[in-house]
Amino acid sequence: MTPSKRTSSRTSDHETGRRAPLAEYQRKRDFDRTREPSGSGARQRRQGGLRFVIQKHAASSLHYDLRLELDGVMRSWAVPKGPSLDPSVKRLAMQVEDHPVEYNTFEGTIPRGEYGGGTVMLWDRGTYSPDEARKGEAAASAVRRGLAAGKLSFSLHGERLHGSFALVRTERGEKPKWLLIKHRDEQAADGAEITDEVLTSIASGRTMEEIAASNDRVWRSNRDGGEGGEEAVDEPPPGPASQQAVMIPPMLPKPVRSLPDAGEWTYEPWRGGDRVLAYVTSETALLMSDRATDITQRYRAVADELISLAGRIGRPFVLDGEVAAAPDGGDTKNKASRKPRGDPKRAGQSIFYASDLLLEGDQVLMDSPWSDRQAALKTLFRRRRLDKIAVQETASADAMLRRAARNGWPGIIARRADARYEPGTRSDALLRIAVV
Ligand code: MN
Repeated sequence: MTPSKRTSSRTSDHETGRRAPLAEYQRKRDFDRTREPSGSGARQRRQGGLRFVIQKHAASSLHYDLRLELDGVMRSWAVPKGPSLDPSVKRLAMQVEDHPVEYNTFEGTIPRGEYGGGTVMLWDRGTYSPDEARKGEAAASAVRRGLAAGKLSFSLHGERLHGSFALVRTERGEKPKWLLIKHRDEQAADGAEITDEVLTSIASGRTMEEIAASNDRVWRSNRDGGEGGEEAVDEPPPGPASQQAVMIPPMLPKPVRSLPDAGEWTYEPWRGGDRVLAYVTSETALLMSDRATDITQRYRAVADELISLAGRIGRPFVLDGEVAAAPDGGDTKNKASRKPRGDPKRAGQSIFYASDLLLEGDQVLMDSPWSDRQAALKTLFRRRRLDKIAVQETASADAMLRRAARNGWPGIIARRADARYEPGTRSDALLRIAVV
């Protein structure tokens, strides 16, 4: 793909090492601002300086991901039929979770049949501005206001799309539904389906077929044998150190008293340790607590082994998990009466139990259902000799509850198989069931 100007910031992300992600992110934003033209046009440019991108995504079903920059992330909508220039056409736009700004430059493919499978094309990019900013109001504030109210009028200044559009929310709830509608203006065109006419990447000029056939930015999970992940074809650039610049607020468990009675779920331990998001590259690891505190130094040995793992895999990644004492480690939260279990050599050591995989290489997995992320997580760890990192085990609810009682854990965690990762959300798809 054509290297974007923004990729140049990756180097500096890399250099900054373990700076707290939020600070890193802030630094980057300032950096971006300094590149904006100064002088008389500056104010106007800044007003229109929010980025947008549309990625054509041939996943299990073809759709177009509309992403609008706001507050340091890309607010995202999956639009099955893509944008239309015909004002009489209303296009369903399903709001999905925010994406890191760094994802804006991603174009590539993951072989079908593997998690997140499909081809991603950069279909359009540029900036956008709200149409209804109040006098003196910042663009971001007007966008925030529009989205909160469920109606945002905005103008795209893209390489392909121009003019005014509306996003109108028609359904609230866990997965809000919106309509994407072209306003009648000079760029409107009755009956025109630009998605039928424009079939190539704005970044590389390639068709979906060409992107799919090309080996750049391809990743094979190779889950059917061999060392998972190491069969990467033409490794994507080691950019996603930049992904660590993005703070991902953890998805929060909902405390409940009973097991879910419907749906497909997995069950895992809740050991009562520290909830940790680990941002890992082959050079650095940053362990952030669920209170957004950098606790890397507290678990230095874990961090070092994570770095070594990223080095062996050749890709950065972001894991969600729990750091807790290995069995028999004298975890003070555990009941003293529990029976000795586990590897005596590990006893007392802090172990990072990885329970979720959020980003890997250039892939944002948070979109994918938990069952796919779990498969990817297992692939990542397959046949690795690891001392201080483990994949969180899962078992049936009954077996897990018995183990919890035996080990003195405070409870168990249940994850709904079809659920996406919802950053910062206390979700019905992630339950924490206390052992009574
Ligand atoms: Mn998508």
